[in-house]
Amino acid sequence: MENNEVVSKNFIEQIIDKDLAEGSYDAICTRFPPEPNGYLHIGHAKSILLNYGLAQEYKGRFNLRFDDTNPTKERTEFVQSIENDVKWLGADWEDRLYFASEYFDAMYEAAVKLIKKGKAFVCDLSAEEMREYRGTLTEPGKNSPYRDRSIEENLQLFEDMKDGKLEDGTKVLRAKIDMASPNINMRDPIIYRVARMTHHNTGDKWCIYPMYDFAHPIEDAIEGVTHSICTLEFEDHRPLYEWVVQELEYTHPPKQIEFAKLYLTNVVTGKRYIKRLVDEKIVDGWDDPRLVTIAALRRRGFTPESIQLFVKLCGVSKANSSVDYAMLEYCIREDLKLKRPRMMAVLDPIKLVIDNYPEGETEMLDVANNLENEEMGSRKVPFGKELYIERDDFMEEPPRKYFRLFPGNEVRLMHAYFVRCVSFEKDDAGNVTTVHCTYDPETKAGSGFTGRKVKGTIHWVPANEAVKATARLYENLIDEEKGVYNEDGSLNLNPNSLTVKECFVEPSFADAKAYDSYQFVRNGYYCVDAKDSKPDALVFNRIVSMKSSFKLPKPE
Ligand code: ATP
Ligand code: MG
Repeated sequence: MENNEVVSKNFIEQIIDKDLAEGSYDAICTRFPPEPNGYLHIGHAKSILLNYGLAQEYKGRFNLRFDDTNPTKERTEFVQSIENDVKWLGADWEDRLYFASEYFDAMYEAAVKLIKKGKAFVCDLSAEEMREYRGTLTEPGKNSPYRDRSIEENLQLFEDMKDGKLEDGTKVLRAKIDMASPNINMRDPIIYRVARMTHHNTGDKWCIYPMYDFAHPIEDAIEGVTHSICTLEFEDHRPLYEWVVQELEYTHPPKQIEFAKLYLTNVVTGKRYIKRLVDEKIVDGWDDPRLVTIAALRRRGFTPESIQLFVKLCGVSKANSSVDYAMLEYCIREDLKLKRPRMMAVLDPIKLVIDNYPEGETEMLDVANNLENEEMGSRKVPFGKELYIERDDFMEEPPRKYFRLFPGNEVRLMHAYFVRCVSFEKDDAGNVTTVHCTYDPETKAGSGFTGRKVKGTIHWVPANEAVKATARLYENLIDEEKGVYNEDGSLNLNPNSLTVKECFVEPSFADAKAYDSYQFVRNGYYCVDAKDSKPDALVFNRIVSMKSSFKLPKPE
C-alpha cells in the first residue's frame, strides 16, 4: 500500500518531499493570498484546499493573507466574505490572518536595501518611453538613461517619492536586472510607483505602492512561507520572484511553484465576468445559486465535503484543462446520498382520488427517512383519499415501457398502497386535472404482501396536509458552444437558467430552515434558500437532479 501512496503523490508533494529530505526547510508553510476585490469562486476553493491540505499533510502551517497592496479595487465587504468562505470550506488559518498592507514598512525597507546594493534605481522615463525602451519578445531592451544614478541620489529621490514631493506617475523605482534578458519580466521591472490613493487599511499613510512581483515574495518571506503556490500565468514571473528573495538575502527563501487553474465546462469562473453579471443585475447578487462563487454554491446547497471531494478528484496538474461540471454534481450527490432524508415533493401536481378510500379518513404511514441509512430513522406521513402526484406520472395513452399510471394499470404509491387507475377528468383545454383510482388495502407497504407485483412506483403528497412551496430549478447560465459573448459584446445567456415552480411538499417540512437540504425522491437534491425562504413560504433551490451523466473514470 505504501508504495502506491508514493506513486500517487502529485508533483508539488514530490517537490516538498525533496525539500524536506535535503533539509532546505524544517517544516513547511503555505498560504492562500486572495486579493480582496471580489468573492471567491470554485477555482479559489481548489487553491485553498490544496494549500491547506499540504499544510495538514506535512503538519505545517497554513496562512490566510489578503493581498491588499493595490488600493483601488479593494473593499472591506470582500475581506469579510473571503474569511467566511475559507472557513466554511474547512481551511483553518488558526491565528495567522495577515494583510500584505501590514508589511508596507518592511517593503519600503527592502526597496532601500536594494538601492543601497546598487540593485534598484529611480527612473524618470514616461510610461510611453519605458515601453519603447523595454524591447520586444525578439529584441532586447535598452538601458534607461537614469540607470546609473548614484546610490545617494536614488536614496534621496525614493525618499522624495515616499514623502509626497513628486506627482503621481512622474517617477518610479525599478529593479536593476538585465534589459537584454529574454524574459521581459526581468528587464528592470518597476517595483514602486507614486500613486495618491486611499488604502482601505493604511488610509493616506502611503503615496507610494509596491508592484505585485516585488511585494509578493517579500510577503511570503516575512511569513516564513516555504512553498508559494500560484497558478501557471506566473511561471514567467518566477525568475523575478527568485531574484527578489535572493537579493534581499532571506535565510530560508520561499520558492514559487505553479499549477494549472481549475476551469469548468460551461461555467465561467472569472471574477470580472461574474462582476458583470452582478452589476448588470442578470443574477441576484454574488451568491445567486447559478454562479460558482463559494457563496453561491453554499446557497444552492453544496456542502464543504462535496467541494473537498471535487477538488480531490480534480487532482493537481501542470497543464490547463476543463473539468466537466457533471463531476461537481457527482460529488454533491455522493455526499448527500446517505446523509439527507428522502422526502416526497410534487413539482407539477395533478390530483389523484382514491374512490374506494373512506371519506374524511387519514392514516399516518411510517416512512423511512433514508432506506440506505437506517440510522436516519423514520417519520409519519399522512395518507388519505385525495393526493397529489406528478403530472407526468399519468398518461392517457402511454407509450411502450411506460409503467406508471394509465387507465387500467396498477402502480405502487411509494410507502403506501397499490392503486389502479379507473378513470380521469380533463378541463376544457384538454389537460388532465384528476386521476381516479381504487386501492387494495392488502398491499400496504410493510405488510409483507407478496400476492402480485407492479412495475411502477410513484410518489405523492396528501392533498389536504401538503404544504405549498416554491422550487427553483437551475441550468447553466451560458452555453459554451454558443460562445460566452454575442457579437455586440453582450452576454450570451441561457434563457432557461432559472425555472420557478409552485409545488407541494409533505407536511414533514414544517420546520425546514435555511441551508437544510433534502432529497426530493425521484427528482433531485434541494436546499432551503437562505435569502428568500420563510417558514410559511418555503423556497427550495435544486442543487442537482437525480440523473447523472457522469461516471468516475476507472483507475488506471
Ligand atoms: P480571477 O482569475 O477569478 O480574477 P484571481 O487570480 O485574480 O482570480 P486572486 O484573489 O488573485 O484571484 O487569487 C487568489 C489565489 O487563487 C491565487 O493564488 C490564484 O492563483 C488562485 N486562483 C485563482 N483562480 C484560480 C483557479 N481558477 N484555479 C485555481 N486557483 C486559482
Ligand atoms: Mg489576481
